[in-house]
Amino acid sequence: MTYNFQTNYTKLSPKLFQIVSKPNILNSKTILINYPLIEKLGINYSQNPNPELLLGSSKEQPFAQAYAGHQFGYFTNLGDGRAMIIGEHLTSNDERFDIQLKGSGRTKYSRGGDGKATASSMIREYLYSYAMKKLGLKTSESLAVIATNQKVLREDVHDGAILIRVMKSHIRIGTFEYALNFCSQEEFKEFVDYAIERHYPQLMEEEQKYLKFFQSVIKNTVDMVVDWYRVGFIHGVMNTDNISITGETFDYGPCAFINSYDQQRTFSQIDTFKRYCFGNQKNILKWNLGIFGRTLIPFLDKDIVLAEKLYNKELEIFDTYFEKQFFTMMKKKLGITDSKSPKQLVNTFFKFLEQSKADYTNTFIELMYPHSINENIYQTSEFLEIRTELKKAGLNLKLMQKNNPERILRNYLVEEALDDYKNFKNLDKVHELLEAVSAPYTRDDKLKKFQQSPSIEFDKRYKTHCNT
Ligand code: AMP
Ligand code: MG
Repeated sequence: MTYNFQTNYTKLSPKLFQIVSKPNILNSKTILINYPLIEKLGINYSQNPNPELLLGSSKEQPFAQAYAGHQFGYFTNLGDGRAMIIGEHLTSNDERFDIQLKGSGRTKYSRGGDGKATASSMIREYLYSYAMKKLGLKTSESLAVIATNQKVLREDVHDGAILIRVMKSHIRIGTFEYALNFCSQEEFKEFVDYAIERHYPQLMEEEQKYLKFFQSVIKNTVDMVVDWYRVGFIHGVMNTDNISITGETFDYGPCAFINSYDQQRTFSQIDTFKRYCFGNQKNILKWNLGIFGRTLIPFLDKDIVLAEKLYNKELEIFDTYFEKQFFTMMKKKLGITDSKSPKQLVNTFFKFLEQSKADYTNTFIELMYPHSINENIYQTSEFLEIRTELKKAGLNLKLMQKNNPERILRNYLVEEALDDYKNFKNLDKVHELLEAVSAPYTRDDKLKKFQQSPSIEFDKRYKTHCNT
């Protein structure tokens, strides 16, 4: 097993990271492994690689990244408290990916934490990142979950594991906040230029490259959140340290897919004020981009008044761009190809969802295939009228099939699968779920049980936890 590491992040200011040692793991065992990803990355491997090799060799110099972040609205100094990047892997097409170990032990950024991760939470991240990738979203991917043979103490005693996470980079809005606050002006500029060159190299020669960089990050993260709305995803902890500048979804902590439609729905146990609820993800993204843009103001123009103006203008454009992308996406989900008032149709549809609290995913399936979902709500005149109106506007099946998943990760099934692992070390249900979401747009009657929404009682009381 060999990675092709050509790491360059560590050429930046040493204030931006801490060099750490490879985790000392003995008798580890592979819990899950993503062979297609190994192949995509062009990594040499045998069908049965030694899990310790997946964690990197002693030649490498792993590092933990420093970053800050606005957590629930408040500035905090953070960093990889339980993660390290073992290197940047270059593929044969010169694509660069961070190979990160999550749950790999304490670093200087661990604060009070133990640096560890429970196996079940890493399996959970593997499941969600896998499902999101297969749903067609830009996301971090999981290469493997490796059992560490160590115990992890939470409310109970758990088995520990390391997740190997692959991502274009782990540079996030919070890295800019950290660099601005703790690095010199030159170091900060060097970091910003590095981030642009790594992710937006086409901007390097542009006259207004910093402004264009801000615009590109806005565009990519808007597209990311619009895609979350498309598949009904609630991230759960949209702190600025969890928002990548590439528009890749990452940090699958207390996330979950929505069942019954509710703008106010929040799954995370710690999101008491519903800051990160389904409907607020758009506003929070804008808030986060406001924080990001502030770090770039000095680069936008020498004249600070003009720089502020440019910054404000971009945030104003955010709303129009978001609405445009959101509306285009919804038109596809509803198969609208020919309508004089498509906006009105989309709004009527949302009014129905709000009032009926119908299952988000299954409502689109029922629109595509009448009488396929056995729920009374789909026999009501309100729903049938909407369907008739949509039919007049196209109800284009091909378009809808591409944009409406048949199967998402149902959170009650995720919990059942994780319970089986926790209680019996049985991964059958995890594998079944991975299989069920591996081709989520393909209709398959054999997989019908994965379409079933949870009971109202489950959906009402279901809560997710982070930091596990
Ligand atoms: P998250 O909510 O997963 O984005 O985590 C927020 C911060 O807490 C990150 O910087 C993590 O590295 C850190 N963290 C989370 N869990 C632990 C842990 N068990 N030990 C040390 N640091 C942790
Ligand atoms: Mg995080």
